[in-house]
Formats: sequence, structure tokens, C-alpha cells
Amino acid sequence: MSNFWADQIAEKAEQLDGRHVVSDAKTPSGRIHVGSLRGVVIHDLIFKAVKDSGQKVEYVYRFDDFVPMDGFPPELPDSFRKHMGEPLCNVPSPEKGYDSLAQYYAFDFREVFEKLDCKPRIVCASESYRAGEMNQLIRTALEKAEKIREINVCISGAKKQEGWLPINVVCEKCGKIGTTKVSGFDGETVLYECVDVKYAKGCGHSARISPFDGNAKLTWKADWAATWVLHNVTIEGAGKDHYAAGGSRDVANHLADEVFGYKHPYNFRYEFFIMGGKKMSTSKGIGVSARQMSESMPPELLRFLMARYKPQTAIDFNPDGDTIPKLYDDWDRFARIYFSHETARDPDIPRIFALSQVGSAPKDFFRPPFSFVAFLRQLPNVKVVDAIADYKGSKLSKEEKDELAKRIEYAKIWLEKFAPEEAKVQLVEKPDYSVLSEGQKKALRDFAEVFGNEKDDNRQMEAVKGICSKNSLTVGEFFEAAYTVFIGRKKGPKLLPFLKALDRKKVVARLSNA
Ligand SMILES: [Zn+2]
Repeated sequence: MSNFWADQIAEKAEQLDGRHVVSDAKTPSGRIHVGSLRGVVIHDLIFKAVKDSGQKVEYVYRFDDFVPMDGFPPELPDSFRKHMGEPLCNVPSPEKGYDSLAQYYAFDFREVFEKLDCKPRIVCASESYRAGEMNQLIRTALEKAEKIREINVCISGAKKQEGWLPINVVCEKCGKIGTTKVSGFDGETVLYECVDVKYAKGCGHSARISPFDGNAKLTWKADWAATWVLHNVTIEGAGKDHYAAGGSRDVANHLADEVFGYKHPYNFRYEFFIMGGKKMSTSKGIGVSARQMSESMPPELLRFLMARYKPQTAIDFNPDGDTIPKLYDDWDRFARIYFSHETARDPDIPRIFALSQVGSAPKDFFRPPFSFVAFLRQLPNVKVVDAIADYKGSKLSKEEKDELAKRIEYAKIWLEKFAPEEAKVQLVEKPDYSVLSEGQKKALRDFAEVFGNEKDDNRQMEAVKGICSKNSLTVGEFFEAAYTVFIGRKKGPKLLPFLKALDRKKVVARLSNA
């Protein structure tokens, strides 16, 4: 049995009626940040692990669009302020082509996670309520409102008044859902009053209305539990903010078990995905959006980043500096281990690599080091494809060319957005030989001859060692001299592949002039 965390969950969780439903949810209340992708990917990995174990399974993703707009996304124009308190599914979209503000944000997020090969069945809360699918669950919740109140009070210490009902009605007069206080369920209707809340003004309207068929929504913890029942959810984790003692997940579990008579789903918490130490927030617009991040690196790398760490491990991902090249290097190493070109102590590596794939099964081919590709990309008159074929030592296959083309594109983005200064290079037009010692100059001249005649890397390297000992230099001092005359600094990428990528005659001339 695999030790990989998703396989462990697949093994431990209990089925319902011989099958599993893995589920996760998000409120589309603003531009969704990259941290929220972690939940989607974690659940997708579990879904695939359950599937691989031979059990029947479905992955359902819920957009909770039937909640009030209670925060104001910074990118929206002020004219949207009047919608505060309305259900997100009824607030208009700021752009054409979407039914609502909720759909506008949800579609944007869905597009991103589908690129990461997460393709759950999407359900929207508003549709479930309007279609009457929640009616029976609403009835149960209203009939057992006192029990729900007790659980809330006991588990989370929430103060709910007697007569409180776990439901919010959409006000018939002003259309807001965040402002209604509900009481007096008589079996068919509830009484509500539209009052002021912190973020929205009520209109004062009061009436009796049926709570069914989309007129109302369960308050969120009751809704969370009821949704598990509706979709037969057997596995669902949640972010750690829901897991404090007496937190919302604890309450929802009790509601499922004791109010709806439904064994709550297999439960696990996942840690935050933060960037540079900052927790991101959808409603406050803090952090990099899922879309921005997905445009900066290939989807398999983003999946990989989330797959390789256990859900309980916080990921602090700062894309600045060498993070992306290092992630690429790890990815390439996992590939080599997967295809048995290299050994590793961690037995989970092949499984992590396999589950991080997007689309097709893993393929065994040469993967050029990302930082070298990024470097070559900056050199004038260098055909990166030829230079990489040279580096590999044979022609590139179709797959290798495709992979290289992708890496060239991502290298461009990395260089523009995240690369440290030392990764940016420019060929020096006129080398300053005066900073070199006599020994260094002589060694470069000696090497010019070797480089002009010898094409094999290993033999070139052997020659370098000989030249160094002849001129009483360390290999390091030789490299420093070479980098100095080509890129004007003492360090650079692997020297021989780099020189090979340049025009041979010009390299020889520059070395000979030392
Ligand atoms: Zn109202």
C-alpha cells in the first residue's frame, strides 16, 4: 500500500452505498487567490487516489453563490455598493457574458483549476435551492431548529436567542438576504423582518413567506451539513481556519450526525498556502489571484507544488528569486526517479510525480534545466533549440521540442517578473581583459585552441584542467576569467554548454585576444 497521503485517505475513508463522493466548496465573492487552489487540487488528488484504488467515486465542487455580498472586492466600481447584502447570485456581473457577480468570479476560477486537470462536477447552491432540492433538508432544519441552536451554543459558544431559526430569507421588497431576521415557522411559512446589519441597511419590510424553492437559505453551518446530505459527500476537508476547537467544521459535523442523521464526511484539515508569509484573502483582495499564478508557471508544476506536501503542511510559496527554477529542477528529478534513471529514499516520489501530471500519462524524455533555458534565451543570435540539442548530445524529439518551447515561454515570464538580478545576463560587447592576471589570460588563450578543435565536453573539461595546472591556476580562477570576458562578472551558468551555445568563431576570437 502506498504511503502517499492521498492514498492513505482513500484507504481510510468509509464509503456510502458502495461509493465515494469527494467534495469541496468555495464562495465566489471576489477574485479567487492562489491559496484557494490548494483545496481544489488536494481534493482532486484524493479523488484520483480513490479512483486508482478501484472504488467508485465522484468529485463534486460547490460554488456557494447563495450568500450575501458582505465584503466589497476592491476591483469593483463604487456603483456596486448598493448590492451589499444581496445574494451573490443576484448581483449583476461587472462584465458581459455572466449571469451574476458570483458566476463571473466562479467561471474565472473554474477555468484556472480545469487547466490544472481538476474537472469536478460543478454545482451552485442557488440552483439547488431554487430547484427545490433543499426543501426537505430545510424542513428538517426548521423543525429541529432548537437542536441546531443547542449545538451551536454548546460547541462553539455562539449566542443565539430562543426562537432563532437557522435560515435567511431573501427580502421580497429590497432583495437582500443578509438583512433578514427570521422566526415563527408554522410548518409552511416563516416570519421575517428586514433589519440593518453591519455591512448593509435593511428596508424594514416584514412578512410571512414560504422558506422553500429558493426563497431562503440555511445559515451557513446548517447549509454546510445539509449539502453533504444532498450530494452524499463522504470525503471533504477544509482549511484550518474552520478547525479551531468549537469551530465551524466541528459544528457542521454535529449537525450532520445529530440533526440530519447523516454520518459526516471523512474529515481532514489542510493548512494555508501563503505567499511570502502573508495569508491571502478573497474578500480583501490580498494576494496573487489564482489566474495570475497559473499564467506564471505550467499547470503541472502548480499541481506538483500542492501534491508533494501533506495537507497539514503550510506552503509558503514566494515566486520571487530562484523558486520557480528550483521547482523545475525538483520536477525533473522526480521525473528521473519515476523512470528509474535515479534512485531516491522517499518511496512516494513516483506516485507524487504520476498524480501531478496534467492530461496524459508521464513520458520519459530529456528535460532541459530551466535556468539554463532562461539563460540561453537572453543571448543574442542563439538558437535555443540547437543549443539544447547540443547540451543533450543528440537531436531533440518532438516531445522534447514541445517541452522546450513551453520552458522558453515560462522563462520569459520568470525573467520579467520574478528572476533575481544575477539571473539576468547580457553579453559584454568589449571585454575588459585588464582585470585578469597574466596566468588567466594565458589560460584563456590556451583554451581558445582547444575550443576551436575539440567538440567533446569531457575532453574539453580535461583540457581545462591541464591548462590550469600548467598556468598555476585553480579551475575556479579559470572559470572566473571566462565569465568576465563574456558576461562581465565572475559567475554564470555552466561554462562549457554556455560557450557552445555561442558562435564558435567569435568565442575563439574573444579567448585568443586575452
Ligand atoms: Zn428588505
